[in-house]
Amino acid sequence: MGPVVRTVLGDVPASELGVCDAHDHLFMRSPRLPGQELDDAEAAGAELRAFRRLGGRAVVQWTPRGMGRRRADLAALASATGAHVIAATGLHQAVHYAPEYLERDRDRLTELFVRDLTEGPVRAGLVKVAGGFHGLDEHARHVMTAAAQAHHATGAAVAVHLELGTGADEVLDLLCEKLDVPPGRVVLGHLNRSPDLRVHLRAARAGAFLAFDGPSRAHHATDWRLFDALTALAEAGHADRVLLGGDTTTAAARSSADGPGMPYLLRRLRPALAKELGERFARQVFVANPARAFSADWPVE
Ligand SMILES: [Zn+2]
Repeated sequence: MGPVVRTVLGDVPASELGVCDAHDHLFMRSPRLPGQELDDAEAAGAELRAFRRLGGRAVVQWTPRGMGRRRADLAALASATGAHVIAATGLHQAVHYAPEYLERDRDRLTELFVRDLTEGPVRAGLVKVAGGFHGLDEHARHVMTAAAQAHHATGAAVAVHLELGTGADEVLDLLCEKLDVPPGRVVLGHLNRSPDLRVHLRAARAGAFLAFDGPSRAHHATDWRLFDALTALAEAGHADRVLLGGDTTTAAARSSADGPGMPYLLRRLRPALAKELGERFARQVFVANPARAFSADWPVE
């Protein structure tokens, strides 16, 4: 079958993934974001359908364990819309959880991540972890160590929330140098929030995937530099490392409310990319790259 992407409805050959939003959220809640929960299945479905109408086929949801990822609802939405939805296991920064929750699972994270990735009914297809601002605290190191072990057991990609886009070097040093995760199995998220082209080029040269987010109110100050970053990467021969996602984290950011939401990726960003960097680049970023980044040779059960 070759490499496959593990979706909430089952395994799909990487070649059939289609146009992919490589980093988004259909459901999410955190004590850090009171009143901003993504917990409305109908609204999530409307956003997904709007993305599908524009030719979108797949969405990678980066919501990890304990943050309301609602896997059964993801599967229902995937069935209803015909979208390939990929769910995550893993953990976010400690601030997103009650201390008791983290304490309870602390010594069995690898086991829990592997179970999420391999046992049904609704399996995860990637491991999400998170760094801190310009560094990694003890929690981040502990979670990344478990994520690396889950990667070695399953082949799953490890997707990393970089706080404000910082800490890429520290993350690659830990995951790849110390924990032996191949750089090509690591997806660095939010790099647009820290438009330091030297860091981007270094991460691309190392072989990691670089995920950039769609525009948002919170990151308006740096969002306009997206094309500078993508151009620099393309010119240096790293077009094969780039991923794009909407990263819709609040209900207000959805297209049905006051935001660009998931449809923006295809309605505005894709045509602009094709114009600036060529149709081939646009196709690569939305189809070929996510198919490579999120597929794996999953162990036969
Ligand atoms: Zn996110």
